[in-house]
Amino acid sequence: MPDASNASTSSAPPALAAVEQEILRACREAKRERASVTLIAVSKTFAADAIEPVIVAGQRDFGENRVQEAKGKWPALMAAHPGLVLHLIGPLQSNKAKEAVALFDAIHSVDRPSLCAALAKEIAAQGRHPQLFVQINTGEEPQKAGIAPGDADAFLAACHKDYGLQISGLMCIPPVDEAPGPHFALTAKIAARNGLANLSMGMSADFATAIQFGATHVRVGSAIFGHR
Ligand SMILES: *Cc1c(COP(=O)(O)O)cnc(C)c1O
Repeated sequence: MPDASNASTSSAPPALAAVEQEILRACREAKRERASVTLIAVSKTFAADAIEPVIVAGQRDFGENRVQEAKGKWPALMAAHPGLVLHLIGPLQSNKAKEAVALFDAIHSVDRPSLCAALAKEIAAQGRHPQLFVQINTGEEPQKAGIAPGDADAFLAACHKDYGLQISGLMCIPPVDEAPGPHFALTAKIAARNGLANLSMGMSADFATAIQFGATHVRVGSAIFGHR
């Protein structure tokens, strides 16, 4: 597990501004409103002292990929800075659903029935309703989490019918060695035919492309915080 010990870097706020400029440019090109895209600053492996300047610079949405690591640093940051929105973007074990529902405002990695059951139970027990995204394994990569594109419609129906979960959108992580556009397009197509408004797609290398294909949530780590 990463120890969240990456040192603070004063370059984060200028890097954040550069990412913001790129988002503005992509939105202009796609004839979209800037407000239709949420920038999630992915702070995994970075410690609170590296994250704080980015909060002070005005960033509100943050992403982490591990429940345990997030529990170690976010409660104090959120207490000090009201109004932050915390997103879980990494795989979630069913036995961590309780902690995840308690801590996160959005979960981007819903990907199997057993997790749906655990989330439904915790949502009912805690009365908290994190925004939920189903992860689609667009490249059908065996090592990657997510629902196969061909199974997506049935899984989304089951989320609603069998577990009473309200799914807000889809998330994807394209294969590293392929052009991302077709993967973003496929994810957008599955979302459209299922009536889902939100698309969590695009990382440091391809968030501008993702905005072209309709991303509503871009997950940007290294372009803001530096290398991990
Ligand atoms: C780490 C991570 C990101 C951010 O990646 P960068 O290339 O650093 O922008 C986005 N999404 C997920 C699921 C991640 O794990």
